[in-house]
Amino acid sequence: MSLIVQKYGGTSVGTPERIVEVARRIRRWREQGHDIVVVVSAMSGETNRLLQIAREITPSPDPRELDVLLSTGEQVTIALLCMALHRLGCAARSYTGAQVHIRTDSTFNKARILEIDEQKVRGDLAQGRVVVVAGFQGVDGAGNITTLGRGGSDTTAVALAAALKAGECQIYTDVDGVYTTDPRVVPQARRLERITFEEMLEMSSLGSKVLQIRAVEFAGKYGVPLRVLSSFEEGEGTLITKEEQQDMEQAVISGIAFNRDEAKLTILGVPDEPGVAYRIVGPIGEANIELDMIIQNVGADGNTDFTFTVHRSDYQKALEILSRLADDLGAREVEGDNRIAKISLVGVGMRSHAGIASTMFRALADEGINIRMISTSEIKISVVVDDKYLELGVRALHSAFGLGGAVQDRSRGE
Ligand code: ADP
Ligand code: ASP
Ligand code: MG
Repeated sequence: MSLIVQKYGGTSVGTPERIVEVARRIRRWREQGHDIVVVVSAMSGETNRLLQIAREITPSPDPRELDVLLSTGEQVTIALLCMALHRLGCAARSYTGAQVHIRTDSTFNKARILEIDEQKVRGDLAQGRVVVVAGFQGVDGAGNITTLGRGGSDTTAVALAAALKAGECQIYTDVDGVYTTDPRVVPQARRLERITFEEMLEMSSLGSKVLQIRAVEFAGKYGVPLRVLSSFEEGEGTLITKEEQQDMEQAVISGIAFNRDEAKLTILGVPDEPGVAYRIVGPIGEANIELDMIIQNVGADGNTDFTFTVHRSDYQKALEILSRLADDLGAREVEGDNRIAKISLVGVGMRSHAGIASTMFRALADEGINIRMISTSEIKISVVVDDKYLELGVRALHSAFGLGGAVQDRSRGE
């Protein structure tokens, strides 16, 4: 018997019938003698619906009030799930984030969990109850409701699992594990039996929304065994683990992530002298805009072109800042493009294998796809391409690296 934290995402609790299904699954785990803490998301589409209503009132809702609004989605599902559990004869109690003291900082809409007082949860477990906690929300030191950023219920689950020292944190969703790439884009994608925290962190930060990046960070930091599974069918899912040293022959590439969330800006013909990068990047940072990829080229005439990407929602603001800077810096021109996509290959095996980049670039060239930017780290290579080539590029790379086929068992060194 062990303590297990289970998280059910929006689709898994999207209808009353599905909520009853989830309750049945929880009861089965209870019958096997496990203590169960459940974290639920809002019903699918609900968080978007609430956001849309807020935007109909004002284009820039007050962040504190937005969190009061968005947190209501999860309050609905905790209550409904407990009702379903009661009907099945399973003792259960629901709690909002504030009620179980999920203490966060005060960064509304993107708060970070600081601590969890797990006493209340333990008390209920000792009484034989299933504890159902609202995901995605917490409370700051002044008692304000906060939310953890989109997809934040994953993080609530991992944080609770860490605080309770749970045997496993199970993330139930609408796919039966982590795949080599999004199975909705590449039907040949295959489920991974295992993936390392490090790789999953890259996959999440580069666009795979199957797990929120903070959840993976947290699980890695506190050593929480994390598993992604389907809430619709039985199976082993994907285990996210520490890198195994003896696993020498592991796959070079474990997955392909992508996103359409970025935009590219270039300032052309700025004088190539000390301080130029700082004079460009400084004002962008002051406007709270995060940069992702950065490239600087040196032209033959002593001038340089400076290109970077930002989140697409910051594109207009960044373009305005750059246009203003252009005059001060004596730049020739400013260019922008918000119809780009980023495709990334991820794999710890890249550390010990050469030639990955050339295979990648060749596969894209064979499809006539032009690469606009490149960036690399020890375990990933990212390229920026025109967004109309996103699907084609991901499929071409998936097949060039032989990622399709039967279920891959990383521990057997395929
Ligand atoms: P939930 O509502 O359960 O949190 P999400 O929609 O947040 O579910 O995440 C699951 C989705 O993530 C899948 O439906 C799938 O389309 C997408 N996804 C993206 N990349 C991957 C991947 N590499 N493996 C599995 N799913 C992925
Ligand atoms: N309901 C929130 C969202 O849609 C949190 C979550 O589902 O994890 O982002
Ligand atoms: Mg999610």
